[in-house]
Amino acid sequence: MHPFVLERPRDLSEALALGAQAARAGRADAASEYIAGGTDMVQLLQENVRRPDRLVSLADLLDRQIDLGPHGLRLGAAATMAEVAAHPGVRQRFPVIREALLASASPQVRNQATIGGNVLQRTRCPYFRDVGYAACNKRAPGSGCAAIGGENRWHAVLGTSDQCIAAHASDLAVALVALDATVEVHGQRGPRTLLLDDMYRLPADRPHLETVLEPGEIITGVTVPPATVGWRAHYLKVRDRAAFEFALVAAAVTVDVEGGRVRQARVALGGVGTKPWRARQVEAALVGAGVGTGAVEQAAALAADGARGHGHNDFKIELMQRAIVRAVEIAGGGG
Ligand SMILES: Cc1cc2nc3c(=O)[nH]c(=O)nc-3n(C[C@H](O)[C@H](O)[C@H](O)COP(=O)(O)OP(=O)(O)OC[C@H]3O[C@@H](n4cnc5c(N)ncnc54)[C@H](O)[C@@H]3O)c2cc1C
Ligand code: SF4
Repeated sequence: MHPFVLERPRDLSEALALGAQAARAGRADAASEYIAGGTDMVQLLQENVRRPDRLVSLADLLDRQIDLGPHGLRLGAAATMAEVAAHPGVRQRFPVIREALLASASPQVRNQATIGGNVLQRTRCPYFRDVGYAACNKRAPGSGCAAIGGENRWHAVLGTSDQCIAAHASDLAVALVALDATVEVHGQRGPRTLLLDDMYRLPADRPHLETVLEPGEIITGVTVPPATVGWRAHYLKVRDRAAFEFALVAAAVTVDVEGGRVRQARVALGGVGTKPWRARQVEAALVGAGVGTGAVEQAAALAADGARGHGHNDFKIELMQRAIVRAVEIAGGGG
């Protein structure tokens, strides 16, 4: 492990100042990085994937409140995955968030991991996480991509580029994108709010840049608009084992169903995109479809628009359509 200094800033502005110093240093491999629950960052440090000189702890700086009110649901960035999943209001009003969280990691990890860290966790591409592989544009810009032409069963089929095909890893982010969640961010230039969906970048020719966050910006909270009365939801996760495993394919679906027909729907996909993947063309086509009919299958087929497999992961293109159909059936009450 690269030696580092652990900084424990007393407040947010001190943390931001330390983050800003990192930005000014201008190194591709940041001189300074934040750590929250540490469940992802410590692994990356241990494997030499990240080599900061300074680690800035966000522990005890950010709030961990979970507030449910007329504005919707606000999750403080320091709330743990376990706290959010166990919250009665989340259970009742936002079951898709709870389902996504409970399908993630293990109870031990969920007790430690924070919401801010969850949505910024790094990809599980094995070539990214093993510095023994030289070619990884995300870890070492310009070095190539070992997954294209390599073992790519876990990789993305949507939003890929010829520079990177790594799948986004967070289950929670998929549910939040389906719910139009926004993130609160604080930086040197003050606070701002943006749609979580807009926070993530596609890899294009710069896969090492995963978000539009400025260097040093800190996520302080996530807000989900009020739950729409009567909508039903389901998070369906397909994985190699029933627990402690990342998604091969996941579908977060919320639907408003009346008389067995979909009136409105929101669909986001996990495990298949280089970012949490909102399937708006599927949502539009689901309107009017009878739950349990071929119309849902036809709508789900639109998810494959633009999809591209790289051999081992070709199966995901059909599997994600089936996952949408099944999630709509379960959420809509037909399954
Ligand atoms: C064995 C195992 C299995 C797992 N399985 C799953 C799974 O099935 N599904 C799933 O979704 N996840 C899974 N995870 C990932 C886990 O959810 C993440 O490791 C965790 O959510 C990260 O949160 P953290 O607080 O520990 O973040 P950290 O590890 O502390 O940080 C993660 C990243 O976020 C940055 N960061 C953290 N907080 C902030 C902030 N507030 N503002 C700006 N930057 C910040 C850090 O700099 C770092 O880059 C698994 C992890 C493990 C170890
Ligand atoms: S898919 Fe992306 S993260 Fe994985 S090896 Fe290729 S460039 Fe690196």
